Amino acid sequence: MKISRISVWRKTLPLRKPYWFSGGRLKVDSLDSTFVRIDTDEGVQGWGEGCPWGHSYIPAFGGGMRAAIELLAGTLIGEDPRDIGRLNRAMDSCLPGHPYAKAPLDIALWDIAGQLAKVPLFQLLGGAEGDSVPVNSSISTGSPEEMIALIEAARAQGYRTHSAKVGGEDPDLDIARIEAIEAARAPEEFITYDVNRAWTPDLAVTVMNSVSARGWFEQPCETLDQCTRLRRHVTQPIMLDECLQDFQDHLTAWREDACEGVKVKPNRLGGLTKARQARDFGVAVGWRMHVEDVGGTVVADTAALHLALSTPAEHCLASWLCQAHLIDDPAPGKGARNRAGLVALPEEPGLGVAPDEAWLGEPFAIHESPAP
Ligand code: MG
Repeated sequence: MKISRISVWRKTLPLRKPYWFSGGRLKVDSLDSTFVRIDTDEGVQGWGEGCPWGHSYIPAFGGGMRAAIELLAGTLIGEDPRDIGRLNRAMDSCLPGHPYAKAPLDIALWDIAGQLAKVPLFQLLGGAEGDSVPVNSSISTGSPEEMIALIEAARAQGYRTHSAKVGGEDPDLDIARIEAIEAARAPEEFITYDVNRAWTPDLAVTVMNSVSARGWFEQPCETLDQCTRLRRHVTQPIMLDECLQDFQDHLTAWREDACEGVKVKPNRLGGLTKARQARDFGVAVGWRMHVEDVGGTVVADTAALHLALSTPAEHCLASWLCQAHLIDDPAPGKGARNRAGLVALPEEPGLGVAPDEAWLGEPFAIHESPAP
């Protein structure tokens, strides 16, 4: 079996509401998503999606992804799609770094592998650890009242875990936000305060030592070293997200005792192959994790949630679905969906969801020839 064609689509995904994070210094109102379909000479097709959260969240952007895919396609066409590890190494030899650009290609290879094995992806990734994965909301930065209103709306949809976006230059405002949210928190709810690297270490020490919240604080400062040093001065558990770009970063975070948990995101790490490696490492060292993707439609959500479902429940806190923030839906009713706070995964072989090609429209590019 050989890869015969790689088709690429670009779609702009407007958000239902503008989304503010990192203390209001970053704003996103639409996402630039890239869909990939890998065709084989035996008729099996695999789908993947890569969707950075805008272009200012991590070192990734849609234009870079599509340019890199043009380069990477030559390393894949003519190769056996079942050789996922070897093809990942070939992509890394062709283009070191740029993990986000490889993610949709890697996910499409896994979709093909699942279809050939006639099992849903979660089974290839380790097997289901339960019937469903709990979902967490994502609460945009705003005034305490605005953020509590968003939490109440999420609660009505079944969410019991919330990721509240805080962080900024005014520690008093962050303290007020966090204390108000803690006061409004229902007894069975969990809140993660996601700072998205907005605090300098001194602000982080000030805020975290002033609030009553004793749960997770996520990516409080810009760098891994800053977060590691901060951890010596605070008592709350720390989760790392944006500063983990590759497996080496995970090793460093563990060796330096930088955190108690991490976000595992296929699009940030380079696809399901590398996200699984990070997930398995996290299980081995005892981390707690959120397994979800950086952004995208139900296609990206479903790929990440297959990995979440195959993560031992004691290590898998919850997963976010980006689809809840989007106006468009390329596969209504299909794939990973929030049902009163829980997500079950499709039982069809492979990814179990594909975008409607009429919705996708004309391809951005079609790659068919192997590299010269
Ligand atoms: Mg985060």
